[in-house]
Amino acid sequence: MSTTAVPTVTLNNGVEIPQLGFGVFQVPDDQTTTAVTAALEAGYRSIDTAAVYGNEAGVGRALAASDLARQDLFITTKLWNADQGHDATLRAFDASLEKLGLDHVDLYLIHWPAPAHDRYADSWRAIERLAAEGRIRAAGVSNFQPAHLRRLLETSDLVPAVNQVELHPGLQQSELRAFHTAHGIATEAWSPLAQGAVLDDPAVTAIAERTGKSPAQVVLRWHLQLGNIVIPKSVTPARIRQNLDVLDFDLSAQDMAAIAATDRDLRTGPHPDQFN
Ligand code: NDP
Repeated sequence: MSTTAVPTVTLNNGVEIPQLGFGVFQVPDDQTTTAVTAALEAGYRSIDTAAVYGNEAGVGRALAASDLARQDLFITTKLWNADQGHDATLRAFDASLEKLGLDHVDLYLIHWPAPAHDRYADSWRAIERLAAEGRIRAAGVSNFQPAHLRRLLETSDLVPAVNQVELHPGLQQSELRAFHTAHGIATEAWSPLAQGAVLDDPAVTAIAERTGKSPAQVVLRWHLQLGNIVIPKSVTPARIRQNLDVLDFDLSAQDMAAIAATDRDLRTGPHPDQFN
């Protein structure tokens, strides 16, 4: 798999992010180095971690052991809810960089709006500063609803480059995606496979059988054709490779419509309005 084949999405500040990356949620730190190394060998160049995953150090060890140039990698991490607030954000960011063994990240996200704490606008102020200092190439958010995004748009000149949200055929987020498009925010899909929960959908398996692709490949292809950035997770080497091998086929308009019809408010994670 050639890495040049992975398309990129140009963010609102001109930075390019690979449209297909690798996620490491729920991978224990000691297994993360092996998984990320397998992903880099397979051709992934974008890695998505978070402070709360407890595996930034494991990601960092894989990056240090790889002979890839830093500018060819795209590393995302996230600010945990307990570290929100202006000064706490600056400290948490330093701790993440230290664990990753990096002097900058490509994308830094506020992990959840955590509206009951009401500190995300202050956290964003700190992120503006980190971006101005060049320690973050792109700044974004995760799990933000339109109301949370509107608040940042009203109080800051820095428009989030990305909103990373739960998105898969069972939760298609059409309204949020339209909001993103209207404001120049890229949509990044977490749990793009719904942690496996959509892989038995008849609409998906029918396309898989016809195209000779796996259900996971069909779902990832659907995301790419919608324009989503995706970060599937696997610790299984064959799946790690399989999930990147989605660039040589197309879903027809009819296939896209068949999957569109499976939207059903299926959440595998918490609702952003309630999670603090
Ligand atoms: P995914 O939708 O990526 O699904 C991962 C699960 O699917 C694992 O159990 C994996 O198994 C399995 N799987 C992977 N590939 C295949 C395949 N080809 N065929 C069959 N099964 C497969 O779930 P995640 O929740 O991990 O989401 C992806 C990433 O999104 C996370 O790792 C994280 O980086 C990010 N994320 C962000 C959140 C946020 O709040 N911002 C919340 C949740 C996730 P196995 O590993 O055993 O192979």
